[in-house]
Amino acid sequence: MKKNYSIGIDLGGTNLKIALLDLHCAIKDKLILPTRSFKDKYDLINAISGAVSAIITKNALNQETILGVGVGLPGPIDTGKGLVHFFPNIPGWKEVRLKDILEKKLRLPVFLDNDANLMALAEYTLGAAKGFRNAVCLTLGTGVGGGIIIEGKLYRGSSFAAGEIGHMPLNENGPRCNCGSFACLEAYIGNNRIMQQARSVFKREISLEELSFLAKKRNRKAIRIWYNVATHLGIALSGVINLLNPDAIVIGGGVSDAGKILFDKTNEIMRQRAMSVQSGSVKILKAKLGPDAGMIGAAILVKQSR
Ligand SMILES: [Zn+2]
Repeated sequence: MKKNYSIGIDLGGTNLKIALLDLHCAIKDKLILPTRSFKDKYDLINAISGAVSAIITKNALNQETILGVGVGLPGPIDTGKGLVHFFPNIPGWKEVRLKDILEKKLRLPVFLDNDANLMALAEYTLGAAKGFRNAVCLTLGTGVGGGIIIEGKLYRGSSFAAGEIGHMPLNENGPRCNCGSFACLEAYIGNNRIMQQARSVFKREISLEELSFLAKKRNRKAIRIWYNVATHLGIALSGVINLLNPDAIVIGGGVSDAGKILFDKTNEIMRQRAMSVQSGSVKILKAKLGPDAGMIGAAILVKQSR
């Protein structure tokens, strides 16, 4: 039977997203479930396999028309062995052979990668980084993830863990990071850190959306918080640009919805800090594929792996 579809899964700290995609990686259907509603690892694995079966049944498809299942995961993954080392923001996962477990449950080929790698693969193949040979993609959310494209290929590193831009240390001392170290970029600009700053400035609960909205209305306290985010991000990017000399930096994830205020200031700080040859040729772009990038990248991974 002709294999016309694949399943793309994006597991994040907030949502578990599952899509049915055609062979052009266009999304035909999707399911979104809150990650925190699962009580443990086993519950979450059952939910993933249940959702895959549900989306196949709902679309009246035969299992044999599915090319494979791609899964993007929020932590370091051994892509070769199909092994999850751990998740910085979801407790209870340590050295889990998720590929084997899911293949047994689903009776379909399963491929795993880091979620930010898959976002980079998607943005490079179909999104904002299309046409650039060398690109670095970042996702700004609960965690800060990164994926690196070198000469048109995803760079995974010697143990498949390259691209952890969120865990580049910015200082000798600084706030504790979920990875166990100190003063990582993520410890300064992860969602929770931004909201913590906003709470202490506004003396109430405030969402990222509201913080972006207030900044667009020229609220000075909100602008100061975004400038602080942009300063840390711009400094980190100046290091990335000096090291890799990419054609483009693509920024996505919920935090990037702050838009022009964040992008302009980040650009300014990056250009002050980076070396002129590298900063002169790089473009900083907003990601195009939005919250679907992870699922699209997972489908591209399936196509590349089969
Ligand atoms: Zn860290």
